[in-house]
Amino acid sequence: MLIDLHVHTYPRSQCSNIDPMDLVQEAKRIGLDGFCLTEHQVLWGVDEVKRLAEDNGIKIFRGNEITTAQGDVLVFGLDKDIQGVITVQELYKEVKTAGAFSIAAHPFRGFKVFGLGQIGLSLDQACKKKILQFVDAVEIRNGRVTESENELAHKVAERIGLPGTAGSDAHELDALGTWVAIFENDIRTEADLIKELRAEKFTIGTAR
Ligand SMILES: [Zn+2]
Ligand SMILES: [Zn+2]
Repeated sequence: MLIDLHVHTYPRSQCSNIDPMDLVQEAKRIGLDGFCLTEHQVLWGVDEVKRLAEDNGIKIFRGNEITTAQGDVLVFGLDKDIQGVITVQELYKEVKTAGAFSIAAHPFRGFKVFGLGQIGLSLDQACKKKILQFVDAVEIRNGRVTESENELAHKVAERIGLPGTAGSDAHELDALGTWVAIFENDIRTEADLIKELRAEKFTIGTAR
C-alpha cells in the first residue's frame, strides 16, 4: 500500500499551490493508495477529510507539521492545536500523552553534509542533533532536500535505531509521490497508520 506521508495543500499551507481536488485526482493517477495531509501548524477537520476521501475513493490521513525551536516535526494522531513557539521536548510530551507518532522532518535540510573536501557535519555530530532524541522516527527521504541531506538522515536513523520514513513534502502537484512509504498491511485508519509506522512495517519507494 503506497502512502505519501508528507503533503501540503493551499490555502491551509500558504506556501503550497496544490488544490485538494487536484491532489486527489493526481494521487489516483500515479497509483497512490493514500496520502497524509501535513499542513503547517494546522489540522484538517475530521469530517472534511472523511468526505474528501470517500467522495474520491482514496485514503487520506490527518497529520500536522509543527515547527519547534529545534526543527520541523510531522505528527500523526495529535489533535491538539499547537501554536506559537514550542520546544521539541514539549511537543514530544504531548505526543506521548496522546499516543501519537512523531517524525523529525527533513532533519538535515540546509546542512552542509560531510563529503570530499567539504567541512560539514560528521555522522557523529549529526546523531547528536537534539531533535532526534524527542521523536519516534526520522524522515530519511524527503522530496525537497538534496540527496546527500537525505542520505545523512538515513545513516543517522540507522545509527540511532529509529524508523526511517519517506514523503514528498509536495508543494506542487508534480512532486506528489516522489517519495512514499510502502506498507505491508492494509491501512484503514489513523490508528492503523501509527501502529504500522511504529512497527516499521513499511519500506521506502517512489510513485514517480
Ligand atoms: Zn518542513
Ligand atoms: Zn513539509
